[in-house]
Amino acid sequence: MPEISPHALRMPRSGIREVMDLAWSLPGPVIGLHVGEPSFPTPAHVLEGARRALDEGETRYVSNAGIPPLRAAIAAKVGERNGLRAAAENVVVTTGGMGALYAALGATTRTDDEVLVPDPGWPNFAMAVQLLQAKPVGYPLLPEHGFLPRIEDVEAAVTDRTRAIVVNFPSNPLGAVLPAALAEQLCRLADEHDLWLISDECYDEITFGGEHVSPGRWDEQERVLSCFSFSKTYAMTGMRVGYLVAPEALAETGAKMQEPLIACVNAPAQFAALAALEGPQDVVAEMRDAYRERRDAAAAQLDRDGVGYLLPQGAFYLWVDVRDRCDGDVKAWSLELLRERGVAVAPGTTFGAGGEGWIRVSLATATDDLLEGLARIAA
Ligand code: PLP
Repeated sequence: MPEISPHALRMPRSGIREVMDLAWSLPGPVIGLHVGEPSFPTPAHVLEGARRALDEGETRYVSNAGIPPLRAAIAAKVGERNGLRAAAENVVVTTGGMGALYAALGATTRTDDEVLVPDPGWPNFAMAVQLLQAKPVGYPLLPEHGFLPRIEDVEAAVTDRTRAIVVNFPSNPLGAVLPAALAEQLCRLADEHDLWLISDECYDEITFGGEHVSPGRWDEQERVLSCFSFSKTYAMTGMRVGYLVAPEALAETGAKMQEPLIACVNAPAQFAALAALEGPQDVVAEMRDAYRERRDAAAAQLDRDGVGYLLPQGAFYLWVDVRDRCDGDVKAWSLELLRERGVAVAPGTTFGAGGEGWIRVSLATATDDLLEGLARIAA
């Protein structure tokens, strides 16, 4: 057999998927707190958008960059809700937020470049960088700094091979929200070192108090690429629609790159996304309120049980401190928790070495299951 591509082989598997496989293989019922999948049905008007598109025969190839009304609606949305100055030409409709991330990295990164990624951070950042034959380099997010990046730590990771910095707020797995001053400092850091700033904002509409701020607001030199998704905001993960908002030359490159990968995003799903933006937005607030209630119920129970955690300000994850329970091996501890107690969580090390001693618990789970799972963790 000829050689399998080494960089594809080298790319690690997502640790969350490993937990999923084990959970599926167990005979008994499992409380699943490991997956970031909204527990709500897709809103009716979104489904209707897809249905109407199918009925009207919208089942052909469409433009690489997305259908024009959706690109225009996204440009308006990011202008109103994210404070970004964008026209339809700055928008590429992608296969979920993951497609936006891949387009952003693919349009900016050369072989052997270094890309700074958060540690702990969503594992797909490092995986996508590796698939592009570049090198992910972690910058630390530490408990003593509220798990926010310190400019000096990010700067210390910059070398002459660094090409881009990836930031993710509201953060998966941490739930941290980016303060405006830090967003501006990150832009200035990118300016100083002539780097791209790739901002994953797929939880932009899920915050519990403080507003999400888009670093692109402070982009003075056309170096910020912002990645968004419909998946979480509108509970439509399987529709696979996201978008990249970028300077025009980058958006053109990102759209062109879609041709050999996907050609275009599934047309009925794009019409569903258009319906999501044009329809009532109270569904977004309802889901956000439900996540906040679950967060508060979970926090109250963990407080009673004496378990430490980071109170999330956004996204829908709870970062729980099990350093005094897991004996320095949170992965083994999490797998034992699943086998012995029937609770599936994501071990912190899935998100980087900085996650040792922590687990990620998803709030996108029915409240009873969430509280029962946390009680078993505390026990
Ligand atoms: N970015 C982050 C931080 C995520 O957690 C996810 C999904 O879990 C995504 C992007 C991508 O979401 P999707 O491709 O489903 O839109």
